[in-house]
Amino acid sequence: MLLFYLYLNNMLIKFNDGQQIDLAQMLLAKEKRVENQKLMLTRHNYPLISLSIVIPGPIKDSSGANFLFKEAIKALHDCFAENTILVIDEQHYHSIAGAEAIMSVKCSANRLKQYCIDIEENHPLGRLWDIDVIDPITQQSLSRSEFKHQSRKCLICHDMAKVCSRARRHSLDEIFSTIEKKIGDYLNI
Ligand SMILES: [Zn+2]
Repeated sequence: MLLFYLYLNNMLIKFNDGQQIDLAQMLLAKEKRVENQKLMLTRHNYPLISLSIVIPGPIKDSSGANFLFKEAIKALHDCFAENTILVIDEQHYHSIAGAEAIMSVKCSANRLKQYCIDIEENHPLGRLWDIDVIDPITQQSLSRSEFKHQSRKCLICHDMAKVCSRARRHSLDEIFSTIEKKIGDYLNI
């Protein structure tokens, strides 16, 4: 069904070369993520970045997803270097639910959220990343609306992502061909 692949320095980028995940595994992965965030907050009293990759469908851990993860880590580090922001601790987690990262960052939560929104909106692959910022005091994620930013738009049409995903408006094939096009444009292939 998914025929897309790219070769980049001999690296294969596909979205169907992983194991399928079921709902129970998905929920377990979410619980684990919250646990890891809490653990990081007990170690350091700084805001957290919690990064995950936006991949539709049941296969979350593919070579394509891992490519997007590495690019996201690069984009975050570029942003920190540019703004002289120190990363206190950084952990990467790889599982059937896909790659994730948690970083403890020496920067105010508000400033950090603004940087992350900028990356999500302006980097060519930013729409494929979920970069949450968690306040160390409230232990809650900062929401886009507090920063006068709308909820995220759908990858394909101009409706809100939530609306389209609830209505299952776009097929997986349609979504992955949009993702492959974004990556192709980004890599200039
Ligand atoms: Zn849509």
